[in-house]
Amino acid sequence: LVSRENHDSRSVVSVRGVPIGGDNVTVIAGPCAVETPEQTLEAARMALTAGASLLRGGAYKPRTSPYAFQGLGEAGLKILADVREETGLPVVTEVVDAADVELVASYADMLQIGTRNMQNFALLQAAGDAGKPVMLKRGMSATIEEWLMAAEYIAQRGNLDIVLCERGIRTFEKATRNTLDISAVPVAQNLSHLPVIVDPSHSGGKRELVLPLSRAAVAVGADGVIVDVHPHPETALCDGPQALLEEDLAQLRDLAGTLAALS
Ligand code: PEP
Repeated sequence: LVSRENHDSRSVVSVRGVPIGGDNVTVIAGPCAVETPEQTLEAARMALTAGASLLRGGAYKPRTSPYAFQGLGEAGLKILADVREETGLPVVTEVVDAADVELVASYADMLQIGTRNMQNFALLQAAGDAGKPVMLKRGMSATIEEWLMAAEYIAQRGNLDIVLCERGIRTFEKATRNTLDISAVPVAQNLSHLPVIVDPSHSGGKRELVLPLSRAAVAVGADGVIVDVHPHPETALCDGPQALLEEDLAQLRDLAGTLAALS
């Protein structure tokens, strides 16, 4: 269902009217985690400054350590909905448990499936049933074929509004948090009609890598980028070191603008 075969053109996924795919280079930005109403609103304003048309933000955080901040849950979803009201930015947020899909979908405009859940098949099926577009991140140890098969689980439920997100894979290299597999973008685009975006924040794991990796993503033909921004990364409850600062936003905006003009 997600294969390029039998599809004459590449798909465009609409998230509350915002297109991902086709001639667009869509910027999604926001905080890694929703912490407070003020922090989320400030981050959303940063996202707008960066030229983003969708707001990201996690209310359910799948953390490696059970002692790390796990997210605000439904209270975080309410904050996201309020910030959407205030800014007009549609919301992309992660769901980590099949039992929560209905609740998350009642607030979100797009459901995010994270790297750790790429092969959580019950979750994929529930997300496929939810009636909302789904962003499927590549498992950190998954092959491209496994990633596309995971997308099939969603598509099989009758939902073809799927966006693939390359977010870095596990290699022997320790200088970056994950290794951005930039070749996965054209490979996945050749194999599948689905849009493919890149997460330069979770792949590099370092602020100074986010803009260079964003440039690489758009140069290779990605359909968009999803980027962490935070008004006060030094106090962030999640992934502060990879969040862009106010002074980085113009460069991201220029990048998005240049590419929009080229496409
Ligand atoms: C995220 O985007 O908030 C996230 C946790 O990403 P990943 O699943 O790629 O680690």
